[in-house]
Amino acid sequence: MKFTRREVLAQIGLLAAAGEAVPSAAPGPASGNSPSVASRADAPLHGALFWDDHSGFGPTPDYNLEHLEDWRQAGVDYLSIDVGYDVIDWTQAVRNLGAYITWLEKRPERFLLVRRADDVLEAKKTGRMAITFDLEGMDALNGDPSLVALYYRLGVRQMLTAYNKNNLAGGGCHDQDTGLTAFGRRVIAEMNRVGMLVDCSHTGYRTTMDIMETATQPVIFSHSNPKQLRRHGRNITDDQIRACARTGGVIGVTGLGYYLPDRASTVAALADCVTYVRDLVGPDHVGLGLDYSPVDLNDVAEFDALSGTKPDFWPPADYSAPWPMQDATPRVFAQLAALLHERGWSEVDLRKVLGENFLRVARAVWK
Ligand SMILES: [Zn+2]
Repeated sequence: MKFTRREVLAQIGLLAAAGEAVPSAAPGPASGNSPSVASRADAPLHGALFWDDHSGFGPTPDYNLEHLEDWRQAGVDYLSIDVGYDVIDWTQAVRNLGAYITWLEKRPERFLLVRRADDVLEAKKTGRMAITFDLEGMDALNGDPSLVALYYRLGVRQMLTAYNKNNLAGGGCHDQDTGLTAFGRRVIAEMNRVGMLVDCSHTGYRTTMDIMETATQPVIFSHSNPKQLRRHGRNITDDQIRACARTGGVIGVTGLGYYLPDRASTVAALADCVTYVRDLVGPDHVGLGLDYSPVDLNDVAEFDALSGTKPDFWPPADYSAPWPMQDATPRVFAQLAALLHERGWSEVDLRKVLGENFLRVARAVWK
């Protein structure tokens, strides 16, 4: 069943909160991000941009991208799709890109591969979901910084340094972090030159602090939660959050149960993380990178096989929860908006966290 954004808001009571009658949840013909659903009844969120800075499904060339409908039907306007991470061979990232570009280009009525930040707004205006790609780890470069420009031309708009474990560029968050290497510095400089957003998620503390000191453009954490709210190797300290904000960047709060104060991934737990970051560095530096993976049995089996053969990437002490975890789905955008609204957030700040902060950074960095 498809839901319009109005119906999603109605279900979670935001329309009632805005003084509107709550309609029955009849399925509508329009998808969540279609402009046809925008109406006065959406107040106070009329036309708000929903920006999800990172997908969480294991990227393979034959992954069924019809799952992107989970985002579209929740009214998400932009998604960065993960096409590679240090766990897989870099050549698979290239194959993923080939397969995803082909799939998306055959469906121009629903998706738009965007190049510039303002293309995201153009996609939203025409009822399509905007897509770019991201890489989790610089092993995807196979030791060659010139591949940054190549990936950029293929639609990759952000890359993080090291996925959990150390690599040629720097330290991972679950490893003995030795800092940003000379190779890592060359890559960061090349990313700044090309206009690819520098992401610090999954990367070790010292390496991230090195990056944020040397980067000449805003830096982000695409999907990382405050360590003060949950002690976990993947979560980040107040120091890291402040350093990110100083670059003009954004911290994307993630919806995975492992990293939230409440493993059931309640909306309240997500709201607490968002509020914590806002209280620490202000409303201009917090957004959402849900890391959501639609439930797919093949995907789960594949992850189990990978984590079994490569336990260093996911130390058992940190990843003991049964799979599949309880994670937030893209519908949390509307739910979170409703809860933060209830908690007294202004409409201006709500719009920032739902998407405008990441849009601002993309405008500043993408070329
Ligand atoms: Zn990740």
